[in-house]
Amino acid sequence: MKNITIYCFRNDLRLFDNTAFLKASLESDVLLPLFCHPDNQSIYKNIQRVGIHRQTFLRQALNQLKENLKSHNSDLLEVHGNICEQIKKISEVIGATKIIFEKIISPEEQDEEISIRSLGIPVETFWQSSMIEVNELPFDLKNMPDIFTEFRKLIESKKIIVKAPTPLPEKLPPLPDKNIEFSSNTNFPTSLKYKHASFPYLENQFHGGEKNALAHLENYLLQKLPHTYKETRNQLFGVNFSTKFSPWLSLGSISARYIAFRIKEFEDQHGANESSYWIWFELLWRDYFRFIHFKFGKKLYSKNGLSNNNNLINHNDENFNKWIQGETGNDLIDAGMKELRFTGYLSNRMRQIVASYLIYDLSCDWRKGALWFESQLIDYDVYSNQGNWLYIAGLGTDPRGGRKFNTKKQNLEYDPNNTYKKMWLN
Ligand SMILES: Cc1cc2nc3c(=O)[nH]c(=O)nc-3n(C[C@H](O)[C@H](O)[C@H](O)COP(=O)(O)OP(=O)(O)OC[C@H]3O[C@@H](n4cnc5c(N)ncnc54)[C@H](O)[C@@H]3O)c2cc1C
Repeated sequence: MKNITIYCFRNDLRLFDNTAFLKASLESDVLLPLFCHPDNQSIYKNIQRVGIHRQTFLRQALNQLKENLKSHNSDLLEVHGNICEQIKKISEVIGATKIIFEKIISPEEQDEEISIRSLGIPVETFWQSSMIEVNELPFDLKNMPDIFTEFRKLIESKKIIVKAPTPLPEKLPPLPDKNIEFSSNTNFPTSLKYKHASFPYLENQFHGGEKNALAHLENYLLQKLPHTYKETRNQLFGVNFSTKFSPWLSLGSISARYIAFRIKEFEDQHGANESSYWIWFELLWRDYFRFIHFKFGKKLYSKNGLSNNNNLINHNDENFNKWIQGETGNDLIDAGMKELRFTGYLSNRMRQIVASYLIYDLSCDWRKGALWFESQLIDYDVYSNQGNWLYIAGLGTDPRGGRKFNTKKQNLEYDPNNTYKKMWLN
């Protein structure tokens, strides 16, 4: 009997250092690479789950994936709608004997996995989105330390060496010999250009996709930017103040493991300093927000988060809409919210400031803020988004409670000449 596999891409839109895809390609006689676009329903009032910036960046990433697969004599089938129903239909047509995909442990994606497993076709899933592998962790995930600093110290004391990447598949198995329509609309809008965008994804260099992600990493290293990262990372605008890895990481066009591996090679060659270490430190936050999902699961999505207190929220939709539109009357907040809406990106500093403002100054529901970020951010990542919102709201694992930012102080420190505000308000 032939091994006929459906490889369902999720947030791992790459061929290099994709262990799950490599395995699928080595073990299958016939391989169908698939991507299922979820229904883009509204997640709150008229907010679409995937806003125009995310749609465009995803389109670019899928185009590159398709090209890459084609260059290996394969292709990408794109379908829309309920992933389980789509897989069921396709499996019947091609007689699939196995389904393989990357594991995502956030609640909705877990539900998808359960429904796919119920189809009765063997399913294999792989955890591959963290920098550090689960089996390398010096603790059992169910008992991982709640506090980030303890988590980091345990990891650092083990002196984990980030593994070398898995290679590209040399050859891909053939596609099913059925009549399958592989063509898809590869166009994307080009009229969203903003000259001040800190991540100008409509410029060729910043398009979504694996080729660009790898080129960006090499360019970042070539400019020796890891040596100054810590000094610049809190700035509010510009292309080079932070790494800008996150949009490509969020779709898995590049793996966190490979980034860490290359940074280590850079340090071996050019020397390590506090700044180059700090990239690892931030990537470790990314891992931490992933791993706490193993421990706390759905609780991280409830109104009270991990707190035992009943968090009374008097959500005000009028305030929320002003925040979304950048019309709160607070210039720093309005500049930030306009940048987000116009470009799909916001610096980490501004994300913290606008999130704090929504929660503490406008008394709105933090979960609505998280939904707006989900819709808008081109680097939307379920774990990092939920984890950071909980952190600011003081409902996560941080023992110091929430983070309320004073906008006047932040303005003086990070935008003393009001350059950033003028960019977005004029
Ligand atoms: C309210 C709020 C929501 C956020 N939502 C997201 C999100 O949906 N997706 C996302 O990738 N990041 C999110 N972040 C984290 C952070 O703001 C972005 O990762 C960062 O700004 C991306 O730009 P960069 O790649 O240039 O970051 P850099 O400063 O260059 O950091 C390097 C990498 O480290 C990781 N990283 C850095 N800071 C954090 C952090 N606080 N938490 C987790 N990982 C981090 C990212 O993978 C990033 O690419 C959020 C932060 C806040 C305060």
